[in-house]
Amino acid sequence: MKMFTYRKKICKFCENKKMEIDYKTPSMLRRFVTEQGKILPRRITGTCSLHQRGLVTAIKRARNIALLAYTNDVKNA
Ligand SMILES: [Zn+2]
Repeated sequence: MKMFTYRKKICKFCENKKMEIDYKTPSMLRRFVTEQGKILPRRITGTCSLHQRGLVTAIKRARNIALLAYTNDVKNA
């Protein structure tokens, strides 16, 4: 028995099949990045590994076409 079952999060993309990962939708992607533009880790958003991977790709693509800001963190550049 786990003690923190109430903290379990469901992947938003698995939960809502209509919700698609689209790099052309920065408003959606922004929910998965910090204010600094960093991608939020899975343990925070609850996104499954499959969708997290797609999300990271979409965010990077969105950054490429300047829909999303790059992080200010130089180490991550
Ligand atoms: Zn998922």
